[in-house]
Amino acid sequence: MSDIPKAPEDAEERHQRLTALDRAHVWHPFTQMQTWLEPLPGDEPVIIDHAQGSWLFDTRGRKYLDAVSSLWVNVHGHHRREIDSAIKLQLEYVAHTTLLGLASPPSIELAAELVRRAPRAGLSPNEGGLTKVFYSDSGSTAVEVALKMAFQHWRQRGKPRKTRFVALAEGYHGDTLGAVSVGGMDLFHEIFRPLLFDCLRVPTPYVYRWPTGPRHCLDASAMAAESVIHGRRDEIAAVIIEPLVQGAAGMIMHPPGYLKRIARACKENGVLLICDEVATGFGRTGTLFACEQEEVVPDFLCVAKGLSGGYLPLAATLTTDAVYESFLGPYESKRTFFHGHSYTGNPLACAAALASLRLFDEDQTLDHVRMMAERLAEGLQTVAELKHVGDVRQRGLMVGIELVKDKKTKEEFPYDARMGHRVSLAGRSRELMLRPLGNVVVLMPPLAIVGAEVDFLIESVRESIREATET
Ligand SMILES: *Cc1c(COP(=O)(O)O)cnc(C)c1O
Repeated sequence: MSDIPKAPEDAEERHQRLTALDRAHVWHPFTQMQTWLEPLPGDEPVIIDHAQGSWLFDTRGRKYLDAVSSLWVNVHGHHRREIDSAIKLQLEYVAHTTLLGLASPPSIELAAELVRRAPRAGLSPNEGGLTKVFYSDSGSTAVEVALKMAFQHWRQRGKPRKTRFVALAEGYHGDTLGAVSVGGMDLFHEIFRPLLFDCLRVPTPYVYRWPTGPRHCLDASAMAAESVIHGRRDEIAAVIIEPLVQGAAGMIMHPPGYLKRIARACKENGVLLICDEVATGFGRTGTLFACEQEEVVPDFLCVAKGLSGGYLPLAATLTTDAVYESFLGPYESKRTFFHGHSYTGNPLACAAALASLRLFDEDQTLDHVRMMAERLAEGLQTVAELKHVGDVRQRGLMVGIELVKDKKTKEEFPYDARMGHRVSLAGRSRELMLRPLGNVVVLMPPLAIVGAEVDFLIESVRESIREATET
C-alpha cells in the first residue's frame, strides 16, 4: 500500500473508468446489451452526471434537453430546491420505516392529499370517489395491486366467477407478470406468454391506423369493447385501460369520448374500471389526471412515475370505499389483502411527493402546462409537414411523432432500420435527449419546461428527423 496520494482523476479519465465498469457489470433495462457493448459511431453510452431544470449534463460536460423527462417521470424540473429540501428535512427524522402494521407521517399526509386531488366529479361507477390509498414502489406494482384487489373483491362479494380482465390490444401496464398478462405489446411480452393468465382483448382505438378509416374509429372500437363487457359481464372482474393516451404503444391518443363509453359500460354491467395513469397522471395531459377530461372516476387509479416529481420510486393504487369494505372482517375471516413490499410508502419518497404536489399549486403548473402545450402544438405544425412524418399526436405535454416510409400509404419503416433511434442519435448532437418507441418519436418534457426551451425542442427535433429520414 502506498501513502502517495493519487493525482485527482480528470473528467475524461473518470468517464473512461465508469464506462469500463458499466460495460463490465451493469445490465441495462430494455437494452440490447450487445449493441450497447459494441456501439456504432455516435451511439456511445452517455453517462449522466447531474441535472438542472430541463437539462441533463454528462460526464464529458455535454448537455442535453431532457425531452422525455427521464423516462416520463420528471415533473417540475431536476434539482428543484423545494423537493430537495423536503427530502433533506425528512432525512432529519428517518429514511425508512415500514407500513406493515406501522404508520408514518409522510405516508398519512400524502394519502390525504392524493384523495383530496383525485378525480371525483361526474360519471362514476362509484359515487363516493377514491378515498383509499395503497402504496407500492413502481407502476407495475401499482397495477398488480389493482388486479389482485379487483380479483379478491369479487371473491369476497360472493361472485367467484368474476375472475377475468379486459384489456386493450396494445396496452402496456408494466413488466411484472400480472401487468404483462394484461399488457398487449407482443414485442416485449410474447416470449412470456406461457407464464401469463389469459385476458379478454378489445381493439386499441388507434385513429391514424384504424382499418376502415379514422372516422369510424371511435364508434367501432367502443362498440367492440361494449359488446365484450356486456356479453361476458358475469366473468369479468375489471377493465384496465390507460386513459386518453396509450404511452408505450407509441403515444396512441384515444378519440375523445372513448373512455367515457368504456366507463359507462363498466358501470352498467357491474364491472370494475382500473385506470392506469402511471404515465398520464400528474399533469402530463393538461389536467392533473387524464380521466378528469372525460369526467370519469374509476374504481382504481394507478399512479407512479410523476408521483414523487420524478425523484424516488413511489406508487399508489387509489380505490373506493366499496372495494375497501369487501376486505373488512374479523381477523379470522382472512379477508386481508395479503400484499406489500419492503419499501412501501417510503417516507423520503412520500415527502418528495408532497413537495411535488405543493409545487403544482405554487407554480400553477397546470396553467403553465396548457400554455406550453399550445406553444408546442404551434411548433409541431412545422414537424407535421416533413416528408416522413405520418402523424403528429398530442395531448398536453405528451407527443408522439409517427415516422413513416411513405406518407400516402402509411407504410412503416422496417424494424431493423431503427428509424426512431436514428432520430435520437441525431438529437444528441443537437443537445436533445430522446428515447423513441419504435418508429414513434416521443416528446414528453418536464412540465416546468419554459417557452424558449419548447422552441429549442421543436427546432432540434425537426432537424433531427430531417437528418435521420431524409439523408
Ligand atoms: C411506465 C408504465 C408502467 C410501469 O411503471 P414502472 O414504474 O416502470 O413499473 C405502467 N403503466 C403505464 C401506463 C406506464 O407508462
